[in-house]
Order: sequence, then structure tokens, then C-alpha cells
Amino acid sequence: MSGGMDLKNEVLNTGVCALCGACLDWCPYIKNIEDHLVLSFDCNVPQGRCYSLCPRTFTDWAAVNERYLADTPRSVEIGAYFKVYKVQAKKSIEGQQNGGTVTHLLKILLEEGLVERVLLTSSDDAISPTALLTKDVAELEKSTGSRFLAAPSFRKLITAQEEGVESLGVVGRPCQIQAVRKWDFNKRPERPAIDLICIGLFCMWSLNWDFKDFLAARFPNDEVVKIVMLEDGIELVTKSGSSHISAEEIRPYTRPAGCNYCLDMTAELADISVGAFEIDPGWNTVVIRSSKGQDLFDKAISRGYLVVEDYPEGELNRLKNASMGKKIRNFKNILAAEARGIKPFIDLDSAEYTQIRNLAEGAVK
Ligand SMILES: Cc1cc2nc3c(=O)[nH]c(=O)nc-3n(C[C@H](O)[C@H](O)[C@H](O)COP(=O)(O)OP(=O)(O)OC[C@H]3O[C@@H](n4cnc5c(N)ncnc54)[C@H](O)[C@@H]3O)c2cc1C
Repeated sequence: MSGGMDLKNEVLNTGVCALCGACLDWCPYIKNIEDHLVLSFDCNVPQGRCYSLCPRTFTDWAAVNERYLADTPRSVEIGAYFKVYKVQAKKSIEGQQNGGTVTHLLKILLEEGLVERVLLTSSDDAISPTALLTKDVAELEKSTGSRFLAAPSFRKLITAQEEGVESLGVVGRPCQIQAVRKWDFNKRPERPAIDLICIGLFCMWSLNWDFKDFLAARFPNDEVVKIVMLEDGIELVTKSGSSHISAEEIRPYTRPAGCNYCLDMTAELADISVGAFEIDPGWNTVVIRSSKGQDLFDKAISRGYLVVEDYPEGELNRLKNASMGKKIRNFKNILAAEARGIKPFIDLDSAEYTQIRNLAEGAVK
């Protein structure tokens, strides 16, 4: 029984908003101003959709996981998964971020009529994110690459619903996949159902939009072509060359609260999750989480779109360690926020978090 004012008090005004965009455009009161959202008018709706789909309002995540991934073995580190692969597109596609796997999975979705539309985050300048709901493969092929500025692109969920879309493929950061699952999980029976397939992206952080001002000041009269994430920062590729920007320089621009409370690096509620394969940049890491994800992956291989290799054991350990590192760091942040009076969006005492909590509390000592 919570609505817009609760969203305002618990999420928008506390800075825990992840800017997934899923709450936008359902009502005229929530406005997006660059990289933050505001409630422009006091809302008296007692049961708001905005509150019910927000990934930062209290959620029984175990129940959500059970609904979509009940048949999949679960790991504490990277959630439910059947298998992890090293993957790349057989034929690379211009602008692809890593191995081009995501674009080829989406191509299969549209070409084989598995979904009516896909929801993407595109860009006109390789950095500013724009939401795109499309059925056009050519548009999809122009939307390759990662936009590291936080993008409220899931605002287009309402467009899909209003256009009567019955099947939808979404690509999103972990918070966005959480939002779309909550949207479906909490859907009222009288609302039309949309058959979803969720492609999740790995995500350690996304950036506030003033990062663009930083780039404009540091590289005047230049144009961004691509941003490549590195372990110690980013490689910025512009029209005039390539530069290294250190993690220290980037840190002031990472979303301080929105990302620092996130326990999910690998989009654990997706049907299939995709990230970089760090030791070989032209490849992806692919995590298969559901039979839907497996079917899509198998189709992309049998069509000859993707090349697959076994995942090295050492890399799987590294992936799990990186994911656990994020969970432990951010669990500590959630505990600290609770101590400051910010309502946690997870059940801190749930058995699901025991190991993470123990490690987080041990790390504090
Ligand atoms: C903010 C952010 C942080 C990331 N952090 C990590 C990380 O720490 N470690 C890691 O291994 N991988 C990370 N990734 C994922 C990585 O950058 C690639 O997206 C992934 O490896 C897929 O590569 P690809 O070549 O298959 O993608 P492509 O085939 O080039 O397709 C990219 C797809 O991503 C979608 N997209 C682009 N930007 C966004 C966005 N902001 N939100 C939602 N969808 C988007 C586009 O719609 C496009 O369909 C991050 C991605 C983002 C957007």
C-alpha cells in the first residue's frame, strides 16, 4: 500500500535511485531532469505502480527469483545459472562493445519473430543514452556499444504496453532487469501481460551525467567514439586518438548512492547475462540462467551468429570474486544507510544474505 510520496521519501529524496527509468511516464508527476528524478507534485495515490516496480523499494527478491528462475541452481556469488561461456559474434558488427553477443541475440529475437519489439539504449554521440523501442533490425545494428552514463531507458516499458506489445526483449543493467521483473511480478491481473525475455548486462557502476562536462573540458572540440572499461579506469577513444582515464578521475562521477547500494553485478534476474571477457576484450562472458535464455543462445549458435568456447575455471573464479566484492562493499553501504534512517530495500536478516552479511560485518572489523 505505497505510492508516489513513499517513492519520493524512500528513493528519490534519499539518493538511492538507480535511474533505471521504469517509474517514468506512467504519471505526469515524476520528471526526469538529466540524471535524476523528481516528484513534481504531491501524489496521493496509495498504491502506485512507481513504487511497486522500483528496484530500490523493499522487495522479497527470493520470491521474485523463485518466480522466474526456480529451476536453476543458485550460487551466492552470481545468482542462478546453468552454465557460463566465452562467446563472440562470428562476424563482428560496427561499434560492438566487446564480442557483439548482445546485438546478435537481439537480432535473433527480431528475425525469428520471437518478440515483437526490443527495448534498447542507443546514442547519437556514443555517450548520451537514448531509449529505443524498435522492431527494426537496422536500428538495432546502429545501437551497438555501451553507454556508461546512467540511462533511464526503461521508461519505454509504458510505450510498449500502450502500443499493445505482447512480447518484448529487453537489454538492461542489473537494476533495470530487477525493475522489469518487479513490474511483471506485481502486475495486476486485469493489466495485459507482456511475454518478456531479459538480456542483462554486467555492471559495476554507471556514471552521472556531469561526466560529459568533464570530458568536454578535458577534450575540447573532440568527439567521443567509444568508451572501453578497464580494470584501472577507462580507455576513451575519440576522433583524435585514445586516452587513458584513471579510476581515481572517474570515481567522482560514479553514481554515489544509486550504484553503491546495488548487490547485483551480473544481472542475476535475467534469462541470459552478458559482460566483457576481461582477459580477451573481443569476447563476452555469457551466463545462461533460464531455459528461455538457453533457447535463445542455442538459436544464435545454430544460425551461425555466435562462436562459443568453454569458460576457463580461473576466470569463473575471478568473476565470482568480483561479484562478491561488489555485494560485500555495497551490503556495508546498505547497513550504514540503514543506520542513517534510510529504509533498506532488502530483508537484511534474510537467510539469502547471511554469508554476505557475515563477510560485510567481518570486513568492517
Ligand atoms: C553502465 C554499464 C556498466 C557496465 N559495466 C560492466 C562491468 O563492470 N563489467 C563487464 O564485464 N561488463 C560491463 N558492462 C557490459 C559491457 O559494457 C557490454 O555491454 C557487454 O559486455 C555486452 O557487450 P556486447 O559486445 O555483446 O554488446 P553490443 O553487441 O555492443 O550491444 C550493446 C547493447 O547494450 C545496450 N546498452 C548500451 N548501453 C546501455 C545502458 N546504459 N543500459 C542498458 N543497455 C545498454 C544497447 O542497447 C545494445 O543493445 C557494462 C555496461 C554498461 C551499460
